[in-house]
Amino acid sequence: MNVATLPPRHHRTTDGRTARAWAALEAVPDPEIPVVSIRDLGILRDVVPGADGVLEIVITPTYSGCPAMSQIAEDIGQALDGAGLAPWRIRSVLAPAWTTDWITPAARERLRAFGIAPPGQCGTPAAVQPLRFVPRAARAGAPDVVACPRCGSVHTQEISRFASTACKALYRCLDCREPFDYFKPY
Ligand SMILES: [Zn+2]
Repeated sequence: MNVATLPPRHHRTTDGRTARAWAALEAVPDPEIPVVSIRDLGILRDVVPGADGVLEIVITPTYSGCPAMSQIAEDIGQALDGAGLAPWRIRSVLAPAWTTDWITPAARERLRAFGIAPPGQCGTPAAVQPLRFVPRAARAGAPDVVACPRCGSVHTQEISRFASTACKALYRCLDCREPFDYFKPY
């Protein structure tokens, strides 16, 4: 058999390679909130074996100009290289726009355990989510009622629209007195 006629190695292992890429990328944490991965947050959208043999990683930035995105791209590259999955490229897809609704339920729990109040749903119809313990503010555009991630109290107060990062707001619990970050829904 003429070895020169064999396709490059990555052409023969397309499916396994895609699965290995998902597995490698599952472990890539969000640089700002390391308890959740980029897959948990919905930033990682797809892994596509390109026709040219280059693995294409599709990501959607959380918001345009998010300073974490260049770090995320770097971490993706390191994870893929470390798993021997080169060559790869990253494609940013801006539509549909990322929403906090894409954050998985398990990741919301990890956020809460980490001391960050997870975002309320902004796009889910009420019929899909019949249990809503925290009433939403009636006025459109008004901030949600945010439960304290430590004690669960809804007696909380916004201190600042922006916390450690632009996508979070700083709150304070009026019962346990602890300040905490709220991941703003959008
Ligand atoms: Zn509290």
